[in-house]
Amino acid sequence: MSSIIHKEDRLSLDHFDGEKVLLTDQEWRKKLSPDQYDVLRRKETENAFHNKYYNLKKHGVYFCAGCSLPLFSSDTKYDSGTGWPSFWEPIIEENISYQKDASLFSLKTEVLCSRCDGHLGHLFDDGPKPTGKRYCLNSEALHFEETTQ
Ligand SMILES: [Zn+2]
Repeated sequence: MSSIIHKEDRLSLDHFDGEKVLLTDQEWRKKLSPDQYDVLRRKETENAFHNKYYNLKKHGVYFCAGCSLPLFSSDTKYDSGTGWPSFWEPIIEENISYQKDASLFSLKTEVLCSRCDGHLGHLFDDGPKPTGKRYCLNSEALHFEETTQ
């Protein structure tokens, strides 16, 4: 099976339809690698510059590592200098959910997968044009599929 997705196929990429992927903690542990589990289910942050996608410049789509919902495109990825994969816009807005970070004095907004509620990273307001947004994500929360261009 080829993992190459043709660019036109992006038009038919899954939109979140309201149906959640709900697994027990034990099921998530079985489904995910320990590192994926720590990020997606325990909201941990992986190390900067020591992750698989921060410097990846290939064309393609980044899917949720928990439930395979398409989340971001290489078209909106940029080098933020932070050492984490950074994007200025999701590929499909409804596939992303947001939650104000509860930690004291934090201005961060948490970014989650709409379908499995997996923790992806955080959203900041210091991104590039046109949105001015910076989606600062964990590589472990993502699964990359290369496209033809
Ligand atoms: Zn997901």
